[in-house]
Amino acid sequence: MDLKACDVCGPAAQREILSAHSTSVGLVIYLRCACGSVGVRLIAYEGAWRES
Ligand SMILES: [Zn+2]
Repeated sequence: MDLKACDVCGPAAQREILSAHSTSVGLVIYLRCACGSVGVRLIAYEGAWRES
């Protein structure tokens, strides 16, 4: 997963992690780019999408 990719600047963007929150489905990470764009990435836990 390309965490640093910016919707505006593309994959070469330099983004910093503002915060990360653990949720029931995965880790939600808030990122801010040098251009000012703020993005959110969700890193799903292994097998989190499967319901038994
Ligand atoms: Zn950017």
